[in-house]
Amino acid sequence: MSQAAEASARQQKLLSAIERLAQVAVFGSLSETYRTCGQPGCHCHQGGPKHGPHLYISYRGEQGKTTGYYVPKGAEEATRGGVAAWRQLQECLRELAKINKERNLRRAREAEAR
Ligand SMILES: [Zn+2]
Repeated sequence: MSQAAEASARQQKLLSAIERLAQVAVFGSLSETYRTCGQPGCHCHQGGPKHGPHLYISYRGEQGKTTGYYVPKGAEEATRGGVAAWRQLQECLRELAKINKERNLRRAREAEAR
């Protein structure tokens, strides 16, 4: 395969991975927190163990302000998977951008050689 054909095959693979990842990606960083509850008599208010771990996701919202939300148990798996997908998405986009850059440079070289 020529360099250009190889790049285009790789590009197709990346695009289909991006389409798949984009459908599940979730933006934010995960952390686990322990909380006190709303019951004043609970052990968590008497120096006992707090409740948790609770999955929390934080991200930089509009105007650069950090925001976030607690992830309910029923959404934990999808959220963890979504955060991993976001990371893979960035890697795919980065590689795609590299292929685009190399194509642009190759075309310029070819045009000059003519
Ligand atoms: Zn409590």
